[in-house]
Amino acid sequence: MIVRPLRRVAVVGSSLAGIHAAESLRKQGFEGTITMIGDEQHLPYDRPPLSKQLLSGSWHPTRTQLRNDDTIADLDLDWRRGHAAVGLDPRRRQVHLADGSAVEYDAAIVATGTTPRRVANPRELSGIRTLRTLEDALAIRAALDDEPRLVVVGGGFIGAEVAAEARRRGLTVTMIEALPVPLSRGLGTRMGGLCADLHTRHGVELRCGVSVRGFEGRGSLERVLLSDGTAVDADLAVVGIGSVPATGWLKTSGLEIDNGVVCDPFCRASAPGVYAAGDVARWHHPLFGESIRLEHWTNAREQAIAAAATVMADHNGGREPNPYAPVPYVWSDQYGKRIQVAGRASAQPDEVAVVHHDLVAGSTVALYRSGDRLGGVLAIDAPRRLLPYRRMIADGVSWQDALAAA
Ligand SMILES: Cc1cc2nc3c(=O)[nH]c(=O)nc-3n(C[C@H](O)[C@H](O)[C@H](O)COP(=O)(O)OP(=O)(O)OC[C@H]3O[C@@H](n4cnc5c(N)ncnc54)[C@H](O)[C@@H]3O)c2cc1C
Repeated sequence: MIVRPLRRVAVVGSSLAGIHAAESLRKQGFEGTITMIGDEQHLPYDRPPLSKQLLSGSWHPTRTQLRNDDTIADLDLDWRRGHAAVGLDPRRRQVHLADGSAVEYDAAIVATGTTPRRVANPRELSGIRTLRTLEDALAIRAALDDEPRLVVVGGGFIGAEVAAEARRRGLTVTMIEALPVPLSRGLGTRMGGLCADLHTRHGVELRCGVSVRGFEGRGSLERVLLSDGTAVDADLAVVGIGSVPATGWLKTSGLEIDNGVVCDPFCRASAPGVYAAGDVARWHHPLFGESIRLEHWTNAREQAIAAAATVMADHNGGREPNPYAPVPYVWSDQYGKRIQVAGRASAQPDEVAVVHHDLVAGSTVALYRSGDRLGGVLAIDAPRRLLPYRRMIADGVSWQDALAAA
């Protein structure tokens, strides 16, 4: 096989996965050109603080920057900030940008993340927001400063964090969740219910089993209309109903796209020279025996490093790297409590066992069975108890052995 020399790498998406891919290439000795293409004007910044420290005002926006200016300069990147990629031609090995220019590459790493789902509304109203970018967070924070009546649409982690911050400020908060229990998509009904209790105890009004039919107001939001015919008066709605992979720009690329850029276990997309990492990538996970896509901070970082390793191996004729098979990990902060999930706390687990519950400390650990194995663990305010289970999931420990270790 002829190995193509690696002189130019294009990284599309200059955020968490993008910057880790670039750093990792440099660490592995790549001295060629790295063109970093990002449609945001900012240097790479971190998103988890957007719904936490930034919303509460405890962090200045500059603290979210992922690397300082000197570290960025040392990477010697060919920056295309504020430039959207609008196409990729794997045959010519070019990324096309919105300004009509093209970036040539030997390897391209797709790291374009996701974009939030929206609730369709025929009329433009102010006061309806999603939360993905720094600008979104600053706009929501400014809106919260006006002490609005808040409706959070969707009971996932981001919506739950916004609700928690609004209650900390003493605002009126209603959470609308289409499923019977918030967070049940990620944690299952029983444990989702436990987290829901946290919200009701802190004064959030939960409206479950109803969806949003539309929004009403004269210029700005006044009412959120629900599927059961009722309405909730509101000045601000934050919509957190999930997100979709940012793959629209790849429509004509011929790459296999199916709920993300489909990759092999080494982060290779379906065309030679194209790789993907982070929220946008979907790949066959050997540990779970199925294709998954994760929207987790730790995954974006680790998968970018894995993709960079494959790029180097493919072009240097090096040894095939190990398949990318992490134990998924995500955290969320709500009401001063840290909620952590390792592995897969699926919506429909075979069994859930609570192995630790301390009413006084408010800490809980629950294990999720997947077949005859430990599939996932949820820890609420119990970070040290999570770690051994995370290792057990990686080692494929049986359900019985996991229970016995509790
Ligand atoms: C508010 C919020 C809170 C979160 N909190 C947590 C948390 O507590 N714990 C946790 O584990 N995870 C959390 N996450 C998830 C975590 O931040 C993501 O998993 C991570 O940011 C994914 O990184 P990424 O680089 O793959 O994608 P992104 O961070 O989405 O970056 C993709 C970049 O590509 C750009 N882009 C998109 N399309 C194009 C294009 N065509 N051309 C050029 N550029 C493009 C985007 O503008 C963006 O800058 C949170 C996310 C959000 C939004």
